Amino acid sequence: MVKQIGAVVTNFDSNLSYEIARNYFTSIGFEIIQDSKPYQMILQRGSLFWGSDWRTKKMSVKVDITESIGNSTLIKCEYDINFLLYDGKEANRHANEEIEGLKAFISTYNQPNIIEKDRICVNCRKKIPWDAIGCPYCGKKL
Ligand SMILES: [Zn+2]
Repeated sequence: MVKQIGAVVTNFDSNLSYEIARNYFTSIGFEIIQDSKPYQMILQRGSLFWGSDWRTKKMSVKVDITESIGNSTLIKCEYDINFLLYDGKEANRHANEEIEGLKAFISTYNQPNIIEKDRICVNCRKKIPWDAIGCPYCGKKL
């Protein structure tokens, strides 16, 4: 097996990060073969032998989700590419592109979150920081 490892950090908890990673990898043709929600999943794509010819590359990806303090979660993606089908740097490059694709996919989830971060004070209706514990304008405890 040839490995290619990459990691992506999200601003979400492990449950949402897991959902996002699952949605992404299944959308690019992977099937879940082992599911330990929300900490780890192993997915596989391709078949070694299809009918009478070699058809697609078989590879698996192990996804580890680690949530740390402060709402950031690490999604580690470890690709295993069958060495029989390994075609040099190409396979690693494709795996890398897919991990980059996951980053782009996560950013589509980030959008509404950023909007959510503009909080409005319930008392004076002014825009306040998303993590404020009190309103800096009127002093209302939040
Ligand atoms: Zn206020």
